[in-house]
This record gives sequence, C-alpha cells and structure tokens, in this order.
Amino acid sequence: MADLFTKYVNVFGQFLFHQKFYIRFITYQKNKTIFMEAWEEYQEKNKERFLNEMMELLRIPSVSAKSEHIQDMTKCAEAVKKSLLASGADKVEIMQTDGFPVVYAEKIIDANKPTVLVYGHYDVQPAEPLELWHSKPFDPVIKDGKVYARGSADDKGQFYMHVKALETLVKTNTMSTNIKFLIEGEEEIGSPNLGKFVGEHKELLKADVILISDSSMLSMENPSLDIGVRGLSYIEVEVTGADHDLHSGTYGGAVANPITILSKMIASCHDENNHITIPGFYDDVIESTKEERELMNKAPYSEEEYKKEVGVNELWGEKGYTTNERTGIRPTLEVNGIWGGYTGEGAKTVLPSKATAKISARLVPNQSSAKMSKILIDYFSKIAPPSVTVKAFEHHGGEPYMTPIDSPGYKAASKAVEKTFGKTPIPVRGGGSIPICSILERELGVKIIFMGFGLDSDNLHSPNEKYGIANFYKGIKTIPYFHKYFSEPNL
Ligand SMILES: [Zn+2]
Repeated sequence: MADLFTKYVNVFGQFLFHQKFYIRFITYQKNKTIFMEAWEEYQEKNKERFLNEMMELLRIPSVSAKSEHIQDMTKCAEAVKKSLLASGADKVEIMQTDGFPVVYAEKIIDANKPTVLVYGHYDVQPAEPLELWHSKPFDPVIKDGKVYARGSADDKGQFYMHVKALETLVKTNTMSTNIKFLIEGEEEIGSPNLGKFVGEHKELLKADVILISDSSMLSMENPSLDIGVRGLSYIEVEVTGADHDLHSGTYGGAVANPITILSKMIASCHDENNHITIPGFYDDVIESTKEERELMNKAPYSEEEYKKEVGVNELWGEKGYTTNERTGIRPTLEVNGIWGGYTGEGAKTVLPSKATAKISARLVPNQSSAKMSKILIDYFSKIAPPSVTVKAFEHHGGEPYMTPIDSPGYKAASKAVEKTFGKTPIPVRGGGSIPICSILERELGVKIIFMGFGLDSDNLHSPNEKYGIANFYKGIKTIPYFHKYFSEPNL
C-alpha cells in the first residue's frame, strides 16, 4: 500500500515537475520569439534609413595615408561619434592619439553582464587609380544591389552594422550584454598609435570578447567565419646606380641600370615552383597537419569561378598547395609597386639613377613581422651587385593571429550566423592582415572573433570597392544574436 502511495506521489511529482518545465519552456519560447520579432520589425521599419546613414559616412574621404585628408579624418570621427550617440550609446568620446583620433563609445547596462568590445576603423585606403573607377569613389552609388564606394566594405559599411545592431537592441530594449566601441582612424596605415592607446586605456576597454567585422565570408550561400588572419612585413627598397640620370645612348651598356638590377633581384625571390627562395623565409612556419588541410579544403571552391572573378586565364602559386592554402596557411611575397626612370607620355631615352619597389610578405602563425622585415632587408642588401647601392627600410608590419573555435565567443558567432543564414559557418583562415589583433589580445587579454560579412570579390583596396546591401542587412540581423548567445551560452 505504502509502495502504491509512493508511486502515486512520484507520478504526481513528475507531472508537476514536467508541468513546471513545460511552462518554463513556453515562456522561454515566447521570450525568444518576442525579441526576434521586435528586432525584425524594428530593422524592417528602419532599413532605408540604416542604408542612407551608412552611405553618408562613405561620402567623407577619410584617407589616412594622405595628408590632404587631415580635415576629412576629423570630420569622419565626428560623424561616427554622432551616429553612435544617435544609436543609443551612453557615452561617446573622440580620444586623441599621437596620430588620428579614436572614437570610443559604450552602452553599459549591468556591470555583471558580459561586455563585448566592437573594433572597427573609419579610415579608408586611397582611392587611386581614379580612372579605373566606374563611379566616383566618395559619391556612393547603388548598382545591382551593391553600394559602390571606397570604404563600403572596408570598413565603414561593416562597422556600421554594429552601430545599427546597437540601435536595434537599445530601441527594442533587448540588450543582454554591455557594448563598447573602439573605432580607430589608422588601420589602413598599420595602426601605428593604437597599441599605445590600448595600453593606456586597458580599464576603459576592458571586455570579455572583441568582435570585429573587417573580413569576408565565402559567400551568402556558404557563410564562414575567419579563425585567423595573416601577419604582414612591408619594406621599401631603393636601388641607386649613377648619382644622376644619364643619357642612355652615351652611357647605356657601361653603367648599371637600377631598374634592371632591381627587377633581377625581385625575380630571384621565387623559384620555378613559385616557392620563395629568400634564406630563412619559411623557418618559423608551422606546417598544417594533414587533417587540418583536409578540413580546410572542404570549403566550397570553384577554380573556374575564381579565375573569372579575378579575370585571369590561369592561376599562379606555390606548387603543392591549393588556392585556399596559398591564401590562408602559406606565407607569400608580393611586389606592391615599382617605379623609376621615365613614366610620362611618349618616349624619353634615359638611364635612370634610381629604381624603387614596395615589397610585402604575408605571414602565418609563429612568424614574426620584425624578424621577417629584417630577413627581407638583409636579402636585398646582400644580393645587390657592387655596381649599385641599396637602401631598404621597413614600413609597417603586423603579427599573424589565430582564434580557437571552442571559445564562447566563436560558439556565439557560429550560432548567430547559423540562425540567420540557416547554415553552420565554415571556419576558414583569412588571407588578409589586421595587425591590431595580436596587440589587442596582448593588452586586453581576451580573444578576438571575426564576423565579417563582406566577400572577397568586394574589391577591397582596389577601384570599384563595393558592399552588398543584402550583406549589410544580414550583418545587422545577425549581430544582435551574437550578443544574445554570448550572454546566454546555453540558449
Ligand atoms: Zn579594414
């Protein structure tokens, strides 16, 4: 009898337990739907304005590399400040550095909640060569669903998604994390002053994760998340022959031509397999394992489309590696520019005195930027024949960076992308460099999550830079989920 009684009590208890669980489940489902609906409704209502605001920002030619744009830089920082204030940040400040200022903003809801630091940059690359643009670089136009303008994808259009995600969360009263913004103005010139700034403002910038949208994904159909960026070494090499330009008829054949010598030196950097021959170049590279390479090569890739996209008949690269590997796990060497002698209209015979090249290397984890710059400078100085003199110096550099895929930040990003794209994003190694990554992690001690919504075909740093409007909206839609999932990892 007692047994039967116990049984009844147990069954009844279980019923109550399940009932409670069921009610909790329903409430949770309801809450979940409420915030989702609120976000969607708010964003749908304001989408035109979001886009117009972003395009306004693109009209400011904030080119950090050129002194003629100093005032535009200030104007742009002011515009970013204004937009952050209008979007609901409590505190926004333009903070001075030894170079261009940083825009800092925050919206703190609860000191006990996790804090997300959003990093972005308001400066852009120079727009030159202007004649290759189909429309004016600082007068954005919409064509085929894309916004064409310098900075549309890199990085104004991308960091602005975070500003509008903040607005969405604030206006729908659904913030679940504290949000801080660090929008700098010197990324495109190598962030020379940001390390010092971050070091001096560790408390202000304190966060649990750093979120960056300044990279691309594979495609809208195959979303991906970058798990690493390459580092960079950048040097300039100047070769001098005679101490002034000479008549190529009178002196040609008797005096070394610096352009010929420099070309030969550059040509010697790759062998017939496009493997780099510079001594020590690969010394610190940790080779990816077979398993890692297999996983990486699962990413969808069509060689035909890739060739079409860049406009070549045949691809080029280091033998033994796939395209994804060449741009992800392998270090590379590129000549970014070369000049000397007469380059004006018509013909002018001259044996130039000087030839110069800008040369950079992309680095993979475990390689050091400073060490690589020294390797490159030593190489060019050493192989020069005695008929010329070589001056080489370092421009800027940056260390490679990797982020683990089992961190709470990565998991939140992956879930957020899955939620809005309907597919789990593929983790990929990005080919570009964001030199500030290693500095941010070193100074603030937290991991960086790359949630880029651009495409490789967005013409970053090139004429006709563009950013898909669908990408822009998708980013704004996805980012609030990141905050939600980061604050409630069990959701
Ligand atoms: Zn960028």
